[in-house]
Amino acid sequence: MPLPANPALRLAHLYPDVMNIYGDRGNVIALRFRCEARGIALEVAEVNAGDAFDPANYDLVLMGGGQDREQRRIAEDLVAKGPALREAIDGGLPALAVCGGFQLFGHRYVDHEGGVIPGIGVFDLETRHPGPRADRCIGDVVLATEYGEVVGFENHGGRTYLAEGQEPFGRVRRGFGNNAEDGAEGARTKNAIGTYLHGSLLPKNPAIADALILAALRRRYGDDVELPPLDDAAETAAHRAAARTAERRSRAAAE
Ligand code: GLN
Repeated sequence: MPLPANPALRLAHLYPDVMNIYGDRGNVIALRFRCEARGIALEVAEVNAGDAFDPANYDLVLMGGGQDREQRRIAEDLVAKGPALREAIDGGLPALAVCGGFQLFGHRYVDHEGGVIPGIGVFDLETRHPGPRADRCIGDVVLATEYGEVVGFENHGGRTYLAEGQEPFGRVRRGFGNNAEDGAEGARTKNAIGTYLHGSLLPKNPAIADALILAALRRRYGDDVELPPLDDAAETAAHRAAARTAERRSRAAAE
């Protein structure tokens, strides 16, 4: 079925001013562009600490990354919002949580000072920072995922460990991933994606942006909605350039 007349989606952007390290706001810009190019109105609501937030009023949720101190700043509020958000995601609400946001979508994050920052348990995982003297996981990332190849970059100290049965977002081809040990990157539950990939992620990986938009449309308008394609020449060129850079830097590091 083609798009319904006057389609509209509502996106909740969680803690946009605090959790926006490395320009993760670009994910909102990409979603807005890919919606409006198809005549889909996208209303973006910024949800900050202390704001009332009912996930049932939204079609998509996004949360970006942040340093340990920013994560501490919003954790109590996110935990308060957690049960309703977890229930909505369990009911199929599409969501994207990046890096620090991804970590707090797990059960907890033990930060670089050993302080425990509680998460909301959307994903069955926990994250532990090995301490301020440990190397950070920094660099270009290339993943194999159900959406095909995914590119981005990572910069995190925390190491994330998935519980038995928790699906990763992808498998690492280049980069560190969740913990530089098990080859897993991110996490995936129903229509929720958690990942360490900044970039921002969606502009260079349009298949993921479209998967989130389509999931939101189908949840609101019915499972037979189809998403018309866009001319992704620029996005594909940016994706390939990032993949080449990752390859080149990976080879240089190995020499
Ligand atoms: N503060 C977290 C860490 O260092 C997340 C960092 C981020 O969001 N880029 O692991």
